[in-house]
Amino acid sequence: MNFHFVTIFPNLVLPYFEDSILARARNSNLISVDCVSPRDFSEHKHKKVDDYMIGGGAGLLMKAGPIMDALSSLGEKKGHVIALSPAGKPFSNNDAKRLSKHENITFICGRYEGFDERVSELAVNEIFSIGDFVLTGGELGALCLCDAISRHIAGVLGNENSLDIESFEGGLLEAPSFTKPNIYKNSSVISAFLKGNHAKITALKNQMALCKTRYFRPDLYAKIAKIKEKK
Ligand code: SAM
Repeated sequence: MNFHFVTIFPNLVLPYFEDSILARARNSNLISVDCVSPRDFSEHKHKKVDDYMIGGGAGLLMKAGPIMDALSSLGEKKGHVIALSPAGKPFSNNDAKRLSKHENITFICGRYEGFDERVSELAVNEIFSIGDFVLTGGELGALCLCDAISRHIAGVLGNENSLDIESFEGGLLEAPSFTKPNIYKNSSVISAFLKGNHAKITALKNQMALCKTRYFRPDLYAKIAKIKEKK
């Protein structure tokens, strides 16, 4: 999978892939990452890519031209184009799985007050938000998507079984997990986890996943409860 970032701040993006799982994925050619800067396509003598908003409004907006030219420079390899915006649909685990089937994905990272709406109309396949808050730019959001998508590419995770029991699989949060020591600051791990009866442990973990989801994410729990009710 090839990820392309349209960003005026490539230095915010590229270092993320220099360590840990995604660095290994890159070294094994499971993913590739590159950046293209709209500044390289600016006709302004100081390489400006922003301008005042037509009709008024506080702040500056990224112009359509340099972003569209940056996209065109990628040619066919731009693939599926995703814009980051607080106005996008909330990104989910199902989106990450679905998008991991693409060969090329391009992220458009806004800055300033965002970018000219015509970019979305003309060149964007999907718009995603990473939450109901406003960041200073789209790079962090694009990295979140890229990271979550990469985990679903075969070979990226050391142990792919871990995907099956992870939060949001089957609509639930993952059950509480523990590691050694068995007792830490007077707090013990769940005793059944120590007894080696794997069928019992799995059943208990399923129950605990339900309880945890109900407590922390009543919205997710309500969806599961509704599905169970229909069955
Ligand atoms: N004026 C815009 C608004 O109110 O919707 C916010 C612009 S924000 C300061 C600059 C850029 O950061 C956006 O174009 C977008 O790419 C990115 N961004 C900010 N918050 C985001 C979020 N919650 N999800 C995804 N991208 C976000």
